[in-house]
Amino acid sequence: MNPTETAVASLPPEIVVLDQDIISKYVTDFRQLYSGRTYAVLRPRSVEEVQLIASTLLKHRVPIVPQGGNTSYCTAATPDRSGSEVVVSLERLNKVREVDAGNLSMTVDAGCILSTLHEAAFDKDLLFPLSLGSQQSCQIGGNISTNAGGIAVIKYGMTRDIVLGLEVVLPDGSLLTDLSPLRKNNSGYDVKQLFIGAEGTLGIITGASLKLARKPRTIVTAFLAIADVSELPKLLDRAQRFTGESITSFEYISRNSLELLIAKRTSLRHPLAAPSEHYVLLEAATSSHLLDIKGALDALLEELMIEGLVVDGAVASSEEQRNHFWHLRENIPEGEVLNGGSVKHDISIRTSRLGTFIEQASQLVLSNAPDSILSIYGHVGDGNVHFNVVPPANAVPSEFKKKFELTVSPLIYDLVASTGGSFSAEYGIGRVKLHLLAKYGNATKVATMKKIKDALDPTGYMNPGKVVAPS
Ligand SMILES: Cc1cc2nc3c(=O)[nH]c(=O)nc-3n(C[C@H](O)[C@H](O)[C@H](O)COP(=O)(O)OP(=O)(O)OC[C@H]3O[C@@H](n4cnc5c(N)ncnc54)[C@H](O)[C@@H]3O)c2cc1C
Repeated sequence: MNPTETAVASLPPEIVVLDQDIISKYVTDFRQLYSGRTYAVLRPRSVEEVQLIASTLLKHRVPIVPQGGNTSYCTAATPDRSGSEVVVSLERLNKVREVDAGNLSMTVDAGCILSTLHEAAFDKDLLFPLSLGSQQSCQIGGNISTNAGGIAVIKYGMTRDIVLGLEVVLPDGSLLTDLSPLRKNNSGYDVKQLFIGAEGTLGIITGASLKLARKPRTIVTAFLAIADVSELPKLLDRAQRFTGESITSFEYISRNSLELLIAKRTSLRHPLAAPSEHYVLLEAATSSHLLDIKGALDALLEELMIEGLVVDGAVASSEEQRNHFWHLRENIPEGEVLNGGSVKHDISIRTSRLGTFIEQASQLVLSNAPDSILSIYGHVGDGNVHFNVVPPANAVPSEFKKKFELTVSPLIYDLVASTGGSFSAEYGIGRVKLHLLAKYGNATKVATMKKIKDALDPTGYMNPGKVVAPS
């Protein structure tokens, strides 16, 4: 037996999956960019079993790939092709341990599906504010490990901002318990921060204490056609001022992004009477019964129309219409897939420079690859642009994307860097952006990351080849 087989054979058989038919869904990422191999998937039922797995695999020098819902956009949760790495799925650690309504907090297992946390909070008349397109399948442990963003960052922050405490199995199997749901706790280094956004390279998260918010009493949602993308910063500014900063989402959608989807999903209706080049999906919410955000939204739209910043718009008059708006927004990635997929650039830009960046980057693409279909959308309220490029109908998608990534993507990333932006807003590094971190990351920061990795995971067996380049 090789070391992987020996290590796996010494674990409780109830947590071991060896059937390659079942294993296949764990070794290919959601976007099907990368397929690896593994001899076994381990599905622990308790924190103690996660500890046992870590110490056993370390003893036999077997690398571990922690996995949540496997929705990573940067192939961070899949094993390599050697077959020697073992996947540890957290899917059976899926209990809500406690909801403390008085403290506005909940403590949960890491394998809880994100949408189940929404339900658990709603049951107590509260809100768990992290919201992503993948929420029916991603897990909170994966969200924490990627420091996920999503559609409500403008109001509630990134995942890091809503984590109060963590429980983590370290690479040697020891348990770091820092699950306190306190808001204030300045008691030495805030070690848990290291594991947030670490993409499983420093340990396996098994539990988390999380912030909750009051459930909104009133939600207002508008789908707006805007005249000029360069006015996005002004629109955002007005929206925040008029609604007393109760904006929860401010999403940009380009005409192409919407129409790629509607062309393939013919049952979907266009939200406005006439098409426009640029749209904003805006939502504001309040838990107060005293604040009139409906009135504030009406006043905002009137002002924006008078100024010519908004040329058309619809305010959701029912939950069904609101769901329709969000369905369109959240299915844009699917629209891209149905049209041959896309080259994704998950970019972060200062909100004050958004409009200019979108214009310059669009020019750059169209002068270097004129046939490209630009699909630009994103959580622009927090500066996050998904600047994606879809192959033209007459191209072979895989060839187009490969060539684009080699020739034009580097120009886009150079523009991002010269604009003071980031090449990775919310999806992380995984294995696909290691070269970008090496090129654009601060050298001392990258060296410090390596020192942290070496200190916590000296053998380098915790999710190798992701985030920190192998030596
Ligand atoms: C349709 C769609 C929409 C999306 N929208 C967004 C979005 O708006 N914002 C956004 O930020 N992302 C988005 N994503 C990307 C993805 O859903 C997020 O990165 C999500 O947080 C990943 O969670 P997961 O449970 O699927 O993690 P996985 O994909 O399983 O893992 C991601 C990383 O975390 C590690 N990991 C997972 N669980 C643990 C654990 N318990 N302990 C230690 N490490 C662990 C893995 O090793 C890997 O490195 C989207 C993806 C899809 C498919």
